[in-house]
Amino acid sequence: MLLAASGAKVRVYEAQPHVGGRTSRITLGGESGDFHFDLGPTFFLMPYVLDEIFQATGQRLADHAQLTRLDPMYRLVLGRPGKSPLTLDATQDIDEMARRVGEINASDGAAFKRFIADNRAKLNAAEPILRRAIRSPLDLMKPDVLKALPHINPHKSVHDLLTKYFSDPQVRLAVSFQSKYLGMSPFDCPSLFTILPFIEYEYGIWHVDGGLNRLMHSMAEACERMGVEILTDAPVERLTFEGTRVTGVVVGGEQHKHDNVVMNADAPWALKNLLPTEALRKVSGYSSEQAIDRKKYSCSTAMLYLGVSGETDLPHHTIYVSSRYEDNLNEISNLGTLSKDPSTYVCNPVATDASMAPPGCSSLYVLMPTPNMRCDVDFQAERGRMRQDMLDQLERIFGIEDLAERTQCEKMVGPDDWAAMNINHGATFNLAHNLGQMLHNRPKHKLQGLDGVWLVGGGTHPGSGLPVIFLSSQITSRMLCDQLGLNYAGVEAPGLPPAAKADLAAMPAALV
Ligand SMILES: Cc1cc2nc3c(=O)[nH]c(=O)nc-3n(C[C@H](O)[C@H](O)[C@H](O)COP(=O)(O)OP(=O)(O)OC[C@H]3O[C@@H](n4cnc5c(N)ncnc54)[C@H](O)[C@@H]3O)c2cc1C
Repeated sequence: MLLAASGAKVRVYEAQPHVGGRTSRITLGGESGDFHFDLGPTFFLMPYVLDEIFQATGQRLADHAQLTRLDPMYRLVLGRPGKSPLTLDATQDIDEMARRVGEINASDGAAFKRFIADNRAKLNAAEPILRRAIRSPLDLMKPDVLKALPHINPHKSVHDLLTKYFSDPQVRLAVSFQSKYLGMSPFDCPSLFTILPFIEYEYGIWHVDGGLNRLMHSMAEACERMGVEILTDAPVERLTFEGTRVTGVVVGGEQHKHDNVVMNADAPWALKNLLPTEALRKVSGYSSEQAIDRKKYSCSTAMLYLGVSGETDLPHHTIYVSSRYEDNLNEISNLGTLSKDPSTYVCNPVATDASMAPPGCSSLYVLMPTPNMRCDVDFQAERGRMRQDMLDQLERIFGIEDLAERTQCEKMVGPDDWAAMNINHGATFNLAHNLGQMLHNRPKHKLQGLDGVWLVGGGTHPGSGLPVIFLSSQITSRMLCDQLGLNYAGVEAPGLPPAAKADLAAMPAALV
């Protein structure tokens, strides 16, 4: 969208028969009719970032997608060894949330407000870093970045930092499980990422009518209106070069000439599989298959999509945090084994959006974090066990009864299926976001040493997750437009909006 709006001639080659990638739609037929699911993302955060992209094309996101702010944002079911789990509904009403936290631990309730205020300052300071390419440590020497450093505590983990605010482990869990959005454990995740819960409380968690996949379809429609050609079922086999200059791509055995190629496929996978060895050798830090495979990767996920008769009393999002939380994280991130009593997340979109299932029915999306494919688990052989673990959690923790009789249709996706979608090691949240692989240490938006090869998406800075891949696309597009001498159509880095600005759907067009 950004490149086409800036005047570039753009063609998209998409390997799958449809657009969307991890943000695709699944539709399963049951006896009552069609059940719809998002394949991956279900939490839409910071909608204003995608709106900036629509604005660059003279349109508004709110004209193309119906957004609903969720309250409660999600229900947390916090497992406790030897006790029944503690339930906490997260709300954007900060006074009310502080009260709910205070019921668990009085001093933590007061600390919650301080945590929110401190993270507002931290996100404000970090925002410029999220919006620009970080090519080398020199890019970190800019005055606004130096100003951000005291807020960032680069060598502390999320967990370390939270112990400064909260004494109750359950309260710490409520503002640290979000590290899993990056596929990481809060014990390893850099403390910068306490901005994740802040972003939820400040800007809300949104559902998009029809599922988050609608965002991708709206973007594809906007592209096509601007003359972008989108070819589906068109996997790129490799890039072609003359010396260091890219000359195009090979698709279906045929060469297609292009002046520039932006690779949106999973960055580690694309570097390994689409670049010839001589070209890959020039990519600093990622210069061979072995170097790429030695990097740290996020976890993977097992998924179950169930079309069931009847409704449930689950809110839109429910997150169960294992009673063996630390063991569960250690098994996923370090030991590479499947867990007992695994943390599990369930999305019940019909709580907000009746279009996701036939009348009187529910589309239940179940996600269980697992190790990625670099472990010794034979995920094909363990498919039955993972499915049963998720069904057991649905009954035992989420209170869904008579599942076997009620299920009309189902689909399962495991780490090996993610890997088959060209995701390196099936690491669904991409390269890990540890300090050694962030900023200038992540694959670059413009591949240095090569001419005309660009990257975009979760494998680049700032990282994995929908709002940040949209930031990544702004960075790559701006750099490419600068190089082509095109007037970049994107909005200038606008700084943080006030909390209400995120409420796009409710705002008059003139103010957006
Ligand atoms: C289970 C799950 C849950 C998630 N939940 C959330 C959430 O709630 N909120 C959130 O913000 N984020 C979430 N994420 C993260 C989010 O989905 C990703 O960060 C984001 O979608 C990555 O976008 P991307 O463009 O980098 O990659 P992708 O979406 O994977 O896009 C890459 C595209 O490249 C295509 N491709 C691959 N190889 C080729 C080839 N050879 N030729 C042509 N095309 C090719 C793929 O088919 C795909 O369409 C979740 C991810 C998963 C997997």
